Amino acid sequence: MDLRSATEVKYLKGVGPQRAALLESRGIHSVGDLLGYLPFRYEDRIHFSKIGEIVPGETYTIQAVVADAGLVRYSRGRGAIFHLLVRDETGALPCRFFHGQYLEKRFRPGQRVVIHGKAEIDPYRPGRIEMINPQHELLGEDTADSTEVGRIVPIYEALGGISSRMIRRMIHAALSGLAAPASDPLPAELLARYGFPTRTDALRFVHFPPPDVPIETLNAFRSPAHQRFIFEEFFFYQLSVALRRQHAQQQTGIAFRVREPGIREALKRILPFKPTAAQKRVLAEIAADLERPRPMNRLLQGDVGSGKTIVALEAATIVIENGYQVALMAPTEILAMQHYLSAKRLFAPAGYRVELLVSGLKPSAKRDVNKRVSSGETQLVVGTHALLEDPVAFARLGLAIVDEQHRFGVLQRKRLAEKGTEPDVLVMTATPIPRTLSLTLYGDLDISVIDEMPPGRTPVQTRWSAPEHLPGIWNFLQREVASGRQGYIVYPVIEQSKSAEAERSLKAAIVEYERLQKGVFAGLRLGLLHGRMRSEEKEEVMEGFRRGHVHILVSTTVIEVGVDVPNATVMVIEHAERFGLAQLHQLRGRIGRGAEKSTCILVAPKTLRGEAHERLDTMVATNDGFAIAEADLRLRGPGEFFGTRQHGALGLHVANPLRDHELLELARREAFALVENPEAEVRRQRMLSSLDSEWQRRYQLASVG
Ligand code: ADP
Ligand code: MG
Repeated sequence: MDLRSATEVKYLKGVGPQRAALLESRGIHSVGDLLGYLPFRYEDRIHFSKIGEIVPGETYTIQAVVADAGLVRYSRGRGAIFHLLVRDETGALPCRFFHGQYLEKRFRPGQRVVIHGKAEIDPYRPGRIEMINPQHELLGEDTADSTEVGRIVPIYEALGGISSRMIRRMIHAALSGLAAPASDPLPAELLARYGFPTRTDALRFVHFPPPDVPIETLNAFRSPAHQRFIFEEFFFYQLSVALRRQHAQQQTGIAFRVREPGIREALKRILPFKPTAAQKRVLAEIAADLERPRPMNRLLQGDVGSGKTIVALEAATIVIENGYQVALMAPTEILAMQHYLSAKRLFAPAGYRVELLVSGLKPSAKRDVNKRVSSGETQLVVGTHALLEDPVAFARLGLAIVDEQHRFGVLQRKRLAEKGTEPDVLVMTATPIPRTLSLTLYGDLDISVIDEMPPGRTPVQTRWSAPEHLPGIWNFLQREVASGRQGYIVYPVIEQSKSAEAERSLKAAIVEYERLQKGVFAGLRLGLLHGRMRSEEKEEVMEGFRRGHVHILVSTTVIEVGVDVPNATVMVIEHAERFGLAQLHQLRGRIGRGAEKSTCILVAPKTLRGEAHERLDTMVATNDGFAIAEADLRLRGPGEFFGTRQHGALGLHVANPLRDHELLELARREAFALVENPEAEVRRQRMLSSLDSEWQRRYQLASVG
């Protein structure tokens, strides 16, 4: 059959309407798309290991025959374990699959199977070796000239009901039927410069590598073919970033007046303290952007508590003094409220009109705010996602500020900016990320960093305590309150769950609040705060805590961002193992905001293992947001770190910005040279126009080109 890249997958052998629909739903429309679905690892099925030679702790690929298989159900909701016994001529290997119901009908004695996994000692029968949840693949009857054994075999992430084995067969069929070379989006000169293979050669290589390539090279994605695909992804991502940036720089923005004495006076008037050198530096960077007749696109990065808010409000002051409006968007109502209150306080002497817009407002109140925003009467509006709603229109939006940017998507940032005519945009984040990663994630932004804490802070002491020690912890908290301080107690859930057993055993904010208020803390005033309360209730509790009326705030993670009460010196986090590193760091950032010594107590069993243990160890070891972000990245990988959806949206499937940072730098340099270098104009036009619609679609270049 004559196949081309653009041929629809439904014409492929073995792809019926059902599979075609499933592939379509995963963005695989054409043969080219399918070929672009690369294996995530490889198995050496030329040199199988023998069961007789297995030692614990190592990973093996074994070819064997099913001897026995069956499901064992356990009572009390522990699920079922699927037992599989396989044999080769040297011995037998038991395998166990937890929650293995789905395997019940898959195996019959006598079937040939490939097993891949790590050998372990059976904890109940020392001396016996087994594999837990190994990967497995049934072999067909006829394995002569097969894609399944006798070669290095690619393993794919299953797509819904389509197994790795089926994907391999489809890709094999596609490659053998390919009548013309697959279209190659990379210019020949780049291939030549870096010695990359053409796309067709690279595809044949990564899907069915020749037998003499070391399996480690393949699994590390270090072959020239792999490098080529990684480069390609980075290159087109960076190309779209470069084009977007160029496009933005050609826009005419607002040139704010910055240097006038009146504006200087206004800036001084709102400052409640002496800014740090870092705050001064970043404000100067922002002011220079504001002054230029191009729209600003700047990321302000600074650890929790480094003082980003005041810098944002200074920028707002400049813009308001120029007669424009400012929007400040925050991810939670509580944070929006907090910003609203401090802006109102700081801006009171100047007389600026500040408003709050959150979903919790009554419809009539919302309408009133909208009216004043669209008439231009409101000078600063602080809000949540509610700012993005349709009825919100500005008379003269000059500056859009997004706080805790990582909680929003790129589109939401754009949407806010589109409420004005090329306003300046400032986004802020407390998530410090390594440079190469910020190039990936924020490649089209200029970056300012606050790398200094306001003076007079005492670093937070962090301890990890077992739940048995809670009575002692409550004692400590009582003593702190007695000496005039305040504290937080954080729980992972609002209410006790009625569903899964594991969830049921989690302590919940509402229940614990009542128990603690009636019990150990009967003499104190506790407050309760969680995301499901009405706006006014939240506001009242926060205000009570801020004024010191409430001694201890029992809460969920709603306080994670922004809450700023310097007199709070203790934070107790129960079930600390349930929180991610970034989240723990943000939570801890709520204390240590004054000169007093602050203590963070992570409550979790000492028996924790693996990643959870490392997370808590990291928290105890360091207060440095950068070190924590790096640990987080290492523990979770970039996909999880960015949120898998965001990662996929970056168009990165094979490329990993952490592992492949050198290729990322290369690709960025090439892409930017092509866009920014005037001599490259002709080459760039030629390249972009030679990319057919398939590539435009795949790399989402259409919208920016
Ligand atoms: P973040 O960067 O996490 O948003 P904030 O802007 O909330 O930090 O600032 C944290 C706290 O530090 C606030 O109470 C703020 O008033 C205070 N602060 C900020 N800058 C200074 C400074 N230069 N000197 C003293 N206190 C400051
Ligand atoms: Mg902040």
